[in-house]
Amino acid sequence: MSIPTRESIITQFRSTYGSPPSVVARAPGRVEFIGNHTDYNGGAVLGAAIDRYVWVAAATNPSGRLRLFSAGGQSVLELPADPGTRITGSDSWANYPLGVWRSLKDFGLRQPAGFDLFVESNLPAGAGLSSSAALELATALALLHLVDQADLPADRLAALGRHAENKYVGVPCGILDQGTSAFGRAGHLVHIDCRGPSFSRVPFPANAHLWIFNTREKHALIDGLYATRNKECLDAAKALGVAFLADLTPAQLPPLDKKLPPAQAKRAKHIIEEHARVHDTAEALQRGDLAMVGRLLTASHRSSQHLFENSTPALDQLVDLLEKHPAVLGARLTGGGFGGAVMALTKDSFTEKDAAGIARAYSAKHGREPEMIHLQAADGAKIET
Ligand code: ADP
Ligand code: MG
Repeated sequence: MSIPTRESIITQFRSTYGSPPSVVARAPGRVEFIGNHTDYNGGAVLGAAIDRYVWVAAATNPSGRLRLFSAGGQSVLELPADPGTRITGSDSWANYPLGVWRSLKDFGLRQPAGFDLFVESNLPAGAGLSSSAALELATALALLHLVDQADLPADRLAALGRHAENKYVGVPCGILDQGTSAFGRAGHLVHIDCRGPSFSRVPFPANAHLWIFNTREKHALIDGLYATRNKECLDAAKALGVAFLADLTPAQLPPLDKKLPPAQAKRAKHIIEEHARVHDTAEALQRGDLAMVGRLLTASHRSSQHLFENSTPALDQLVDLLEKHPAVLGARLTGGGFGGAVMALTKDSFTEKDAAGIARAYSAKHGREPEMIHLQAADGAKIET
């Protein structure tokens, strides 16, 4: 597929709705660089906005109708007014843009009475790269432009997208996805202190590369497993007398962990050390010490594998293969775990051929090739001019 451009999107909008859009906005996907399950434990996380995007083109619809179309879809969804309930079935994707539109009101912002919306993307949906947040933020910017409010600060934009997903789609996500998509900048990672939340940027060298190896496997009991880990962490924090596990440092844990059942002690050690690794990674990036960054990434994976127990044999095998490659600096599972993808940090010298070699060795054991995506750290959500 050729990469969509502002012009190609305007052309498609025009052929869908018969007139040009007033605005084209785009927002990037993201990878969780490091900071595994730290968000709901009051910790920090580093995300990378990536050079894969969702684009949203929009125009005011003076009749007050809401019309929505996503490229590749069957037909335009046309609503005379807010349906008031969540949409089910093949049009359920529209809950994201409709949720954003409703959230404008919740945030005290102006809301266009009617709109025509066109969505295009080169970001795989449901692959853990956060197409949902990209769709929310691109929609928010496009709709805000229609009411002359596209200067909303990035932290409000991120909060609005998250609110839409939490309240109107019903997904209890943290701030990582929307925060990274809002604050991304080429040549930088986004540091999020989830407690505020507060956001900052950390330099990411141009000679470092990100690769995703997506196993496409998903644990059948994934929601239950997330809920179990969440409860284990909150119970451990309570038993240790802190509001959140991230309130403790690795040095403080050893005498305390005797108070915990063995599983909780492992989860607590993972979270507390992972929170410290996020801090150490940000410092190593500031110094330009990529070798150290790579070691921290792989240490994060081993901690997921042995302590948090949210890895899988397939993810472990990809990390084992990547770790041995001389042009790979480090690798770890990215996202919630129990399936999904491994992210590798590589040197310039790591090529498509090297990636294909890893995929071959992996598929010899697992029977199918992982999906591979080469990414760069990219700019956050913006209006395309
Ligand atoms: P992820 O955010 O990791 O990609 P989610 O399950 O959170 O996975 O979000 C994926 C959902 O977002 C899709 O099922 C769809 O409803 C919506 N979505 C993402 N991209 C698009 C798109 N280009 N057009 C329409 N809907 C999309
Ligand atoms: Mg998502």
